[in-house]
Amino acid sequence: MARAGASGKTTQKPASTKPGKSANGIAAGLEKLGLRRPLDFALHLPLRYEDQTRITLLSDAPAAGPALFAVRVRAVTVAFRPKRQLLVQVEDVSGRANCRFLNFYGSQTKQFERARDEGLILHVWGDLRSGYLGPELVHPTISKPTDETSTAAPSEALTPQYPTTAGVSQAQLRQRIGKVLKDLQLSETLPRNPHTQHLPKLTAALQFLHAPPPAVDVGALNTRSHPAWQRICLEELVAQQLSLRKARLARRQKGAPGLRGNGSLTNALIKRLPFALTRAQQHAYGEICADMNEHYPMQRLLQGDVGSGKTIVAALATCQAIEAGYQVGFMAPTELLAEQHYNKLIEWLAPLGIKVAWLSGSQKKADRTAHLLAAASDAQLIVGTHALIEDTVDFSKLGLVIIDEQHRFGVAQRLALRQKGNNPHQLMMSATPIPRTLAMSYFADLDCSVIDELPPGRTPIRTRLIADTRREEVIAAIRNAIAAGEQCYWVCPLIEESETLELQTAIDTHALLCEALPDYRVGLIHGRLKADEKATTMRAFADGDVQLLVATTVIEVGVDVPNASLMVIEHAERFGLAQLHQLRGRVGRGQRESTCILMFGQPLSPTAKERLRVIFENTDGFAIAQADLQLRGPGELIGKRQSGVPMLRYADLERNADLIPAAQQIADQMLREADQTRADLTDIHMDRWFGHAEGFLRT
Ligand code: ADP
Ligand code: MG
Repeated sequence: MARAGASGKTTQKPASTKPGKSANGIAAGLEKLGLRRPLDFALHLPLRYEDQTRITLLSDAPAAGPALFAVRVRAVTVAFRPKRQLLVQVEDVSGRANCRFLNFYGSQTKQFERARDEGLILHVWGDLRSGYLGPELVHPTISKPTDETSTAAPSEALTPQYPTTAGVSQAQLRQRIGKVLKDLQLSETLPRNPHTQHLPKLTAALQFLHAPPPAVDVGALNTRSHPAWQRICLEELVAQQLSLRKARLARRQKGAPGLRGNGSLTNALIKRLPFALTRAQQHAYGEICADMNEHYPMQRLLQGDVGSGKTIVAALATCQAIEAGYQVGFMAPTELLAEQHYNKLIEWLAPLGIKVAWLSGSQKKADRTAHLLAAASDAQLIVGTHALIEDTVDFSKLGLVIIDEQHRFGVAQRLALRQKGNNPHQLMMSATPIPRTLAMSYFADLDCSVIDELPPGRTPIRTRLIADTRREEVIAAIRNAIAAGEQCYWVCPLIEESETLELQTAIDTHALLCEALPDYRVGLIHGRLKADEKATTMRAFADGDVQLLVATTVIEVGVDVPNASLMVIEHAERFGLAQLHQLRGRVGRGQRESTCILMFGQPLSPTAKERLRVIFENTDGFAIAQADLQLRGPGELIGKRQSGVPMLRYADLERNADLIPAAQQIADQMLREADQTRADLTDIHMDRWFGHAEGFLRT
């Protein structure tokens, strides 16, 4: 009623549709929605649908969700308590309700008054709830029926609800999209094959989804199980597969130094190791070695469970690059882990005459300057944290970048390291397995090597669940273990709400354990310590001078002290599955039988109970990741934001998992059939779906 929309319908919504908002506002809004080409409007599909094909009586309002009512206005009041608001009392044959508007304009009040005086019918769309003054609708959408004296339903089709932004109303979107649809005739880019022939054609699917007839089940539309939606999701997944394949082809066009080593360093390293490589490690290194020999940049992910021995494989790749006369940058996400890698790599590589440099955020100025100089000249391996990607860092001849715990970094950071060289080879490492559907889509341009066995001689970790009321027994177990020459971790509870509280708990626990174990040395490590303090404590623990290490989750990734064989995790129910698995992986690294005690507080929530059950029953990281996926849903696993692949708007990797293999086959077929002489369908297809999203980064 506030304004007459072109469709004859009007909408009252606060703020977003202020009258007099300039056409500029709309243009900016449409731009923000990525709606430029007519095609973009056609592909801007509804989030959900509202059924305005039926009028509901006020007395029959659904318990939850909106409905459409046809009412007359009884009274219009502007109330001032507690806040200025417009109250419109309405009625139909079944009863009465109040419409409440907290934001409103004088003109709206006038129009409601006119409707009251003339006894006109209004359509009110909203959620009817019980309020302070009886049933009420807060900020319902009001529209004027074509025939203001009849209670007939306003729509013959379901009403689409589009994703929108400030300045663009649903009515405006509907109108513009409707105009585009009138003479929409899109060519078919997908081949007709067994995957597509039972689905509607693209144009038909779009026509249908923008204006579904009333007989259609709103549920099937809203859950996107309808064949028209399937067609859209398949189209989008094919576009994604095409973009991944093209990225791969483009990568192959880029020149990279072929890092063919002569084996002098790799063989010397293997000879000096106190252990033999596992078959899986040899296999993984073989794949990496072959990639590095190529003249286009490697992009490989080395996956292997916690403790499977990824670092030595990375060290072999390092040796190969150095043999070929190139530098290696090795980046880890935390100072603790980076420092540990630095020490390990020095131990392995310095005896071979390899010059190693170190860069970290907490380094002293003079030290840093010296290492920066080395990186820019004769250092062969540069290890560090994010400090490696700062502007001041120059490499003289970077040929390989290694990124440990790659999921802890964003795309931009990985790219920044790569840009320090001229298309260097890239090796990423992770103990967090990528679920199959993600691997097939967002990560499809990564080659994967898997270390699927642990080094021999490891005795499996025993996991025990103990209520925290038995803390004294747990402390006694620690005392016995230390007396027998073992070392232990005590992991303090995660307190998500307060870092200060978490720190305080760690300090208190440390004090308590010092008192309980007066004959032994108890160390404390947490995120607030200075880097050199952390390093000193870790060294003392690694050297066996400290027998019990009280820690926060700073020790979660990568920490490797093989003599540690007992771990206590306090309030284990507060940790996520991946985190518990990583933490537990800090023990079981040596010959000794290791134990992980999960202390839990009661009562346990059902999901906490389920998590503890999973971690108790499983030691395999892949099985745990799978269970995690089921418990948490895919969204949280492996931040999608870190992928450089355009986001999917409609397809969902879990819901549409069965469409992914089809999309892969179709993409392959399209590339095979791509014809140089006519317009390439793959380009048309990709431009259709991703043309609006420019300049995205690639992994
Ligand atoms: P992760 O894969 O979790 O990064 P690490 O590389 O830290 O594992 O290796 C875990 C431990 O196993 C280290 O102490 C490492 O020296 C040792 N290790 C690696 N490979 C072998 C092997 N083939 N045999 C015995 N020990 C090994
Ligand atoms: Mg590691």
